[in-house]
Amino acid sequence: MANVLIIGAGGVGTVVAHKVAQVPEVFTDITLASRTKSKCDRIAEAVGGNRITTAQVDADDVRQLVEFFTSVKPAMVINVALPYQDLSIMDACLETGVHYLDTANYEPPDVAQFEYKWQWAYHDRFQDAGLTAILGCGFDPGVTGVFTAYAAKHHFDEIHYLDIVDCNAGDHGRLFATNFNPEINIREVTQRGKYWEGERWIETEPHEIHMPLHYPDIGPRESYLMYHEELESLVKHFPALKRARFWMTFGQEYLTHLRVIQNIGMASIEPVLYEGREIVPLQFLKAVLPNPGELGEHYLGETSIGCRIRGIKNHKEKTYYIYNNCKHQDAYRETGTQAVNYTTGVPAMIGARMLVTGHWRKAGVFNVEEFDPDPFMQQLTIHGLPWHELHDVDLEV
Ligand code: NDP
Repeated sequence: MANVLIIGAGGVGTVVAHKVAQVPEVFTDITLASRTKSKCDRIAEAVGGNRITTAQVDADDVRQLVEFFTSVKPAMVINVALPYQDLSIMDACLETGVHYLDTANYEPPDVAQFEYKWQWAYHDRFQDAGLTAILGCGFDPGVTGVFTAYAAKHHFDEIHYLDIVDCNAGDHGRLFATNFNPEINIREVTQRGKYWEGERWIETEPHEIHMPLHYPDIGPRESYLMYHEELESLVKHFPALKRARFWMTFGQEYLTHLRVIQNIGMASIEPVLYEGREIVPLQFLKAVLPNPGELGEHYLGETSIGCRIRGIKNHKEKTYYIYNNCKHQDAYRETGTQAVNYTTGVPAMIGARMLVTGHWRKAGVFNVEEFDPDPFMQQLTIHGLPWHELHDVDLEV
């Protein structure tokens, strides 16, 4: 039915490749391309069955992408390279008539700034070309937006308070490692905190606001308020929101390492001259840290990500908590990688499925909460991310 092109062969790309290959009735032809072809070959071999063709491509180079898309002729691209490549891949999609999906919003390499403005600016061009671009279709952003849309559709007349809670209660046995691309992850967790309240953004120091929250099947974990990109689109698409926040759990050991990394300048994205050559300290740090895609083998425990929502239904106040828990070992058994990659890659495959089957097809650039959540929610359970609902409970937040 559809010829799909996956760009990016890291931890998330590994999961997307496995999951796309599991649905041959939808994804008839699969190409996996990345900067380093040998990584694509390893993934294709692990998936087996000659399901995946591999290729080398530099996704920063629009001309190269256009030539490549012209020869592969994909119906859509699943972009799971890095956020820096979002715009060049979108440009090439426009030039060749290819639909687009990603899991993280564009960031300029030289400023850690998480904003949709660059990609939203492509809306009219995608609309004129009759193409669909789906932004942020991982777990968070991604499923958290779909959960919010599902709550708004089925359980509330108005959503007033939204708290997205992201807990990783897993133990990978390493002293310090990030759960996805270290450069992107450290840029994200070291930025200033920010949340929406009373129709404006309020900024905090990094990790300034924190409290213990209870996660299902896990228990209490210290949770830190931080900015996360889906807040921007959710505030725009659910204008009745009085407050929207994002919380993530961190262990003390992780935070101590992070503080040291920052204090000694290794989290910096300013280039420094080293032996006559410019290097970016954070990029060098990435090279010496464990590869997040390879943490899976000894990873124990689980993730729990969900939305805690308060609002109005039939003139009465209502609370609602919708979440998914995902075990690292289960993710590893199925795809050879851990739950953070799994919870990102599965929704990317489902979003692609929604697009090529026509459930999520309109011309323009959209965030996931702008589509009908129901067919997506149904696929989540089928493809390994079952979700649970709690009504009228203490939300703690
Ligand atoms: P990795 O660093 O493991 O993988 C990135 C892949 O992209 C690598 O294969 C890399 O190639 C490739 N790549 C980088 N630059 C280029 C380029 N110029 N041309 C072609 N390929 C390139 O990252 P992850 O798998 O951890 O993350 C992938 C994406 O998923 C990121 O954008 C991340 O922000 C996002 N993400 C989203 C989440 C969500 O819930 N929404 C959660 C976690 C991650 P090489 O191997 O040569 O370096």
